[in-house]
Amino acid sequence: MNQPRGVGVTAVFVAAARAMESGRADRLFDDPWAGEFVGASGWNPPTDQMDDGSREELTTWVAVRTKFLDDFVLDAVAAGCRQLVLLGAGLDTRAFRLPWPQPVTVYELDTAKMVQFKDAVLDGVSPAQAARVTVPIDLRDDWPAALRGAGFGPDVPTAWILEGLLAYLPEDGVDALMRHAGELSGAGSAIGATITNVDFTAAMDDAPLFRGSPLRRRDWLALLHSNGPADPEAWFDSYGWRATAVTVDDLARRYGRVLPEHSVLKQLRQGNRWLVSAVRK
Ligand code: SAM
Repeated sequence: MNQPRGVGVTAVFVAAARAMESGRADRLFDDPWAGEFVGASGWNPPTDQMDDGSREELTTWVAVRTKFLDDFVLDAVAAGCRQLVLLGAGLDTRAFRLPWPQPVTVYELDTAKMVQFKDAVLDGVSPAQAARVTVPIDLRDDWPAALRGAGFGPDVPTAWILEGLLAYLPEDGVDALMRHAGELSGAGSAIGATITNVDFTAAMDDAPLFRGSPLRRRDWLALLHSNGPADPEAWFDSYGWRATAVTVDDLARRYGRVLPEHSVLKQLRQGNRWLVSAVRK
């Protein structure tokens, strides 16, 4: 099995956080496959060394955004969306674990290597209700053509998820992606996203997360190609979406979670991180 490397390792970090969240008594969701992905990746998260607050920081960030986007997409499908497109799907298991209120087709776009790794781990697992279509593609290439070729219908109301993705694309790639998603979105479509506007260069030399991982901090910084907008609602509006943004801190409080006061990863909070849900204007 080809284990994730480069930007693919970031999806394993997310899976590790989902596995930790799934083990909590007060979990916001249960992702039974997250731990399997991490085990198959060959990396052992140094969770016992993350007692500086970074375990809580990482788990809360991922748990809160996962729960928010789970609710977003279930609402969107209940309201009529019949397609879900996960751009940079990584090790997202929504096709398998969500109780879909209506039949829906889930299109998962990510690099060929990520799709192969994920499918190897999920071999034999069948989605409960969703039809799952994988589209191996680099999102800097002509992904709209690949998506249409896989059966996507631009006239069908669609829910889009951009979770933990945009920072890994260059600014012109983010702009193209937003324009293409708009062009492919009929009436009734919706979009859910994470937006991060932070000082990524803040020192995190000692972040335990990176210990033993195939991705070192300097490698991760080299993968970050753009910073998110400081005003997410205005930014989505400029692409034709009516958006509502909530900060992760506020959302965590809403879910009864508190981000830790002290953590190496807290340095990432020096700007803002938001969860956004938007509808096509
Ligand atoms: N959305 C998933 C989640 O939240 O669980 C994965 C998030 S992970 C931090 C970022 C994902 O974006 C990885 O799976 C990576 O392979 C994918 N990605 C980054 N740049 C990409 C590109 N140019 N083309 C395709 N996928 C890309």
